[in-house]
Amino acid sequence: MNQPNAPLRLLDLAPAALREQVAAWGQPAYRADQLYQWLYQRLAVDPAEMSNLPASLRQRLAEEAQIELLTPAAESVSSDGHTTKTLFRLHDGQLIETVLMRYDRRNTLCISSQAGCAMGCTFCATAQMGLQRNLTPGEIVAQVLYFERWLRQQGDERTAARAGSGGKESPAAAHASHLTPHASRVSNIVVMGMGEPLANYANLWQALRTLVDPAGFGLGARKITVSTVGLVPGIDRFAEEELQINLAVSLHAPNDALRATLTPINRRYPIAELIAACRRYVARTHRRISFEYAMMAGINDTPALAEELAALLHGLLCHVNLIPLNPVVGSPFQPSRRADVDAFVAILEAHGIPTTLRLRRGIDINAGCGQLRARVAQSTRTPSAG
Ligand code: SAH
Repeated sequence: MNQPNAPLRLLDLAPAALREQVAAWGQPAYRADQLYQWLYQRLAVDPAEMSNLPASLRQRLAEEAQIELLTPAAESVSSDGHTTKTLFRLHDGQLIETVLMRYDRRNTLCISSQAGCAMGCTFCATAQMGLQRNLTPGEIVAQVLYFERWLRQQGDERTAARAGSGGKESPAAAHASHLTPHASRVSNIVVMGMGEPLANYANLWQALRTLVDPAGFGLGARKITVSTVGLVPGIDRFAEEELQINLAVSLHAPNDALRATLTPINRRYPIAELIAACRRYVARTHRRISFEYAMMAGINDTPALAEELAALLHGLLCHVNLIPLNPVVGSPFQPSRRADVDAFVAILEAHGIPTTLRLRRGIDINAGCGQLRARVAQSTRTPSAG
């Protein structure tokens, strides 16, 4: 949308552009550093908070700039309380999802990189909406800042509750700290929400650089994982990046005939080319690739396919992450039976391929990719429209 007086979206500006903007406002360079710190370390949403900036600059920011880019539109919390999924509305009405998972002393945030997705995976809820648009760098980072603010606030409330009870935790605070052992920071980020991150490469990398910049958000690169459907040129580009961000590849099948029915992009980048790119990535970076494999009953979960997968990945520095399929409304695919999953794991491990089974986190809140948006869109449709 091209509004005549569209606000300046600060989070979209790379550090150099932010410096230029601050200079254009007639301010010395160190003001840009201070502003950067307010945005990404102190997580300010209101220029009035920026107490070390001159009043004139704060006024300018209030008039011309915008910080928060996300409006929460719906939220659901899983029944065990460990997973929170938020649907955000963007300035042009697009909806995206972000999921916070609090397990194993970690706060892992699953963020979106596009509104919708063009890849068309047949088992994925996001695919059903098609690609709406790329997220801007600011919209990617804003998902992290939103949950970081929320976690810090929870941490502060716990500390206050402890202080208020004479050093002993109140039952509520003890409960909260049980759920969130060190709750006050986002500790890991996975780019596994809506969209294909490597199809929005430049914006994704601008966001990732801010997130790992010690002067910015300051998260360790190794705490971040980007998941791709298997865009070969993007994987080659990823291998050249200096930051040690992890790469995950959504494989889901060990041969072209099957994979093409699940991830249509396989027709463009068939498995031999994909695995060759993965081998180049490992040779270049010496980092382990993780392969995601959503287990679908009677589709990709047979012992023969496990053998084929083991042969395909032989000698590659990798690990396989089996994901129980999250059933999507209107889709024929169902999650594999536990016995079939166990047999699949056993075969991979017998071939020396490290394998993990991802827990079905947040399954009761439609935490699978694109599912909350689908539900909200459905419930706001008029009954006669279907
Ligand atoms: N486009 C990227 C990242 C987004 S999806 C990619 O394809 O990797 C993150 C992961 O969730 C991918 O492995 C994707 O295949 C998987 N996924 C999508 N829908 C799913 C579902 N209904 N159940 C289980 N996994 C699903």
